[in-house]
Amino acid sequence: MALREPAQASRIGVMGGTFDPIHLAHLIAAESVRDGFHLHRVLFIPAGTPPHKTGRRVSPAARRLAMVRLAISSNPGFEVSTIETDRPGASYTVDTVRSLRREFGPETKLYFITGADAVLEILSWKDPFEIFNHCELVAVTRPGYDAVALDRMVATMAGSGGVVHRLAIPEVSISSSEIRKRVKERRSIRYLVPDAVGEYIWRTGLYQD
Ligand code: ATP
Ligand code: MG
Repeated sequence: MALREPAQASRIGVMGGTFDPIHLAHLIAAESVRDGFHLHRVLFIPAGTPPHKTGRRVSPAARRLAMVRLAISSNPGFEVSTIETDRPGASYTVDTVRSLRREFGPETKLYFITGADAVLEILSWKDPFEIFNHCELVAVTRPGYDAVALDRMVATMAGSGGVVHRLAIPEVSISSSEIRKRVKERRSIRYLVPDAVGEYIWRTGLYQD
């Protein structure tokens, strides 16, 4: 497969998420895919802030972006993109990958990175099959994910031309929800988030109400 690719073709990973807050498992996932798939860089793309009508209130985009910037600053292979937070309202992966494809052109290989939990929901996303016209998916292992359901999903997607790779990564059961809960209870989040992100959370009072 590599032989058919032009020597200059760049390979870019796309790590989408709410990142409320970004944590070490996000960084482990992105670095594992960067390394495993020989990517030139990984773009972290925090999702836009959905309207407050349903579900949990997501922290303002500026806060989530600031934490992503702090978390990735030491890794030259990581970058942040404001493509979703610059648009008002909720974001759809299909719109994002379509814009990235337009921006980077047809030669660039795009890999959309998700946890195995999130990839199982892909059929409920907007225009899932169009997503595969623009990128391949990399599903990274996450503690507690359903391996059988994932196998079934990979087969279904392959049947309609979509490529889903699976990548085993060092699994840690960290989630943003658990971090928010800990902060609310004034418990330690050290070693769950980068130090600078932890300092930012305590300094700004995020998640404390
Ligand atoms: P929340 O608890 O608020 O849902 P989260 O920890 O799941 O937060 P998200 O921002 O929802 O974080 O996730 C962004 C991406 O990172 C998703 O594709 C998700 O599957 C993946 N991800 C998050 N935590 C892990 C983890 N511990 N291991 C592997 N992948 C993860
Ligand atoms: Mg999640």
